[in-house]
Amino acid sequence: MSGKEKTAETSYTFKAEIKQLLQILVHSLYKEHDIFLRELVSNASDALTRLQFEMLTNRNVVDAEAELAIRIEIPEVEEGAPKKLIIKDSGIGLTKDELIQNLGTIAQSGARQFLEKLEDGSEITPEDVIGQFGVGFYSVFMVAKEVEVVSRSHKPRAKAAKWISDGGESFRVESADKSDRGTEIHITLRKDAEEFANDWKIKQIVKKHSDFVRFPVYVGEDQANQQEPLWRKRPSNIEAVDYNNFYRQMTMEFEEPITHIHFSSDAPVNVRTLLFVPAKREPGILASRKDPGVMLYSHNVLIQEYCTDLLPDWLGFIDGVVDSEDLPLNVSRETVQNNVLMRQLGKMIKGRVLRELKKLAKNDQEKYETFWGEFGRVLKEGVAIDPAAKDDVMPFFRYKSSTSDDALVSLDEYIERMGDEQEEIYYVLGDDDQSVANSPHLDPFKARDIEVLYWTDPLDAFIAPGMQEYQEKKFKNIDDASLELPELEETEDEQEPAIEDPAFNAFVGQCVTTLGEKVTEVRESKVLKDSPVRLVSPEGAENREMDRIQRMLNKDYEVPKRIMEINRNHALVVNLANLVSNNPDSELIDLGIEQLYDSALVQEGLHPNPASMLPRIQKLLEMATSG
Ligand code: ADP
Ligand code: MG
Repeated sequence: MSGKEKTAETSYTFKAEIKQLLQILVHSLYKEHDIFLRELVSNASDALTRLQFEMLTNRNVVDAEAELAIRIEIPEVEEGAPKKLIIKDSGIGLTKDELIQNLGTIAQSGARQFLEKLEDGSEITPEDVIGQFGVGFYSVFMVAKEVEVVSRSHKPRAKAAKWISDGGESFRVESADKSDRGTEIHITLRKDAEEFANDWKIKQIVKKHSDFVRFPVYVGEDQANQQEPLWRKRPSNIEAVDYNNFYRQMTMEFEEPITHIHFSSDAPVNVRTLLFVPAKREPGILASRKDPGVMLYSHNVLIQEYCTDLLPDWLGFIDGVVDSEDLPLNVSRETVQNNVLMRQLGKMIKGRVLRELKKLAKNDQEKYETFWGEFGRVLKEGVAIDPAAKDDVMPFFRYKSSTSDDALVSLDEYIERMGDEQEEIYYVLGDDDQSVANSPHLDPFKARDIEVLYWTDPLDAFIAPGMQEYQEKKFKNIDDASLELPELEETEDEQEPAIEDPAFNAFVGQCVTTLGEKVTEVRESKVLKDSPVRLVSPEGAENREMDRIQRMLNKDYEVPKRIMEINRNHALVVNLANLVSNNPDSELIDLGIEQLYDSALVQEGLHPNPASMLPRIQKLLEMATSG
């Protein structure tokens, strides 16, 4: 990274990527230039937060007693002279080196992603993207013909310095006169941006984009933002749109959150909390919240920006604020982790989040399903990572089932619908709903009208061994050979078997010969109705869910050996058995048996390479069509 060459004592050229960004900003047709103010206010607020952090442990800073605030001023200028705007903060400040470093490269990784996005996506115009996301400090050049950043670091020995640029190729840095702590951004407005030299307009913009900034934003003498932390207000005084605005300002996410959770309590722990379930698992490209965890406040000071010790990992997607007056201000990371109070807080908040999610599931099914689609897998991972989480997360699980017609079913609903005699929760594993719906294992369940859950997410197979039971009902994979189902009432007369014993036995023998080592056993099925064969697990095949995972990971995958069960009354079986008896040299016999076996493997989601069946299928088709 050698982009910023020195061209003179104090003059530097911008790195190529910044030049590109500046070009876009200066020439963009994007009309809503007012987002530049949001970016500058957000930087000022960050600088104030950082100072607050610093002062938790070090009070040896310039102006230790100064008010933490942001001030916007519109200085008088002479008739005809360009108009000006100044944004000041009493935050952490920048040294000369920091000015060169932080305003000479793209600090914000989001701005870099913005450029990448423009480069690879020809569909997107800068106008599309600038409006949705912040592009950081440089957005000031949408309105400025020149910018001076004058700063005095909080470090007592640092000298004040000044950064100057017109948004072209380069910037200058020189010493400056400034005795108080913090940063001032002096903007000389472009002719077409003079509208911003207006108190009323600036107040409007602050209100719109920066209402909940935690420090007062003064425009002239008046405070323009409401500042009062939303989480400290009563929920009954807050409208949905306020929550959404707050969320947008907090995260700079474009999409509204799926839901919010707002509550407070005074005992056993004092806490004021406002949490959000974001719309997406991944943060938006220029979102300001980059890591999992909630913001932890005490006495109005942000003491941890990403606190992951309060909620379990499987709720890591929850974002927002937890504010407790009971937390000591000078907490270090270790004390936060080992604090009894933190444990109490965590328990309370987790309980509350789960309660609200249950409420959502009950009252707004559509929204809940959006939530489940986005975060269901995170909850499932909970079972894998933390077996103790099982009881917490399982009530949230949803599956399609053999009787639900595409609707999602909860385990509670499943149990509610179970017949009196049913003791277990049945599931079938497979690659997708389509192949599972045709699974031969479902035959006896369809015949008895018993519901079976479709576990078609790879994670389902992965966590199946850990699921064990729910509400004292064991989970049961329906490929189990020893499954006992209630006898079917005899509706029709006992059917005569379609083939005699000797012919059927000869066919079974032929299957053993043809398939050899591939199967452990071949036998008649007692349960199949519509399918010719199925593969079942030999008794004691404990980890058979893992076979599927092995196949997906493609790690030394060996096709597991199963028992092949045959439906004696299926037309295909009858035809093949007749061939074995009457025309034992027919090529169709081996081809047919092998194909039956391979098809069953595919059905089970166990076939390593379904495409390998194609030559055989083609051969079978040729034989079928040749008459
Ligand atoms: P970001 O805020 O995402 O880091 P910006 O482009 O908005 O990216 O700002 C670039 C950097 O400039 C910041 O990371 C910070 O180090 C520095 N900076 C900008 N404004 C200020 C300010 N008012 N006080 C102190 N540092 C600032
Ligand atoms: Mg910024």
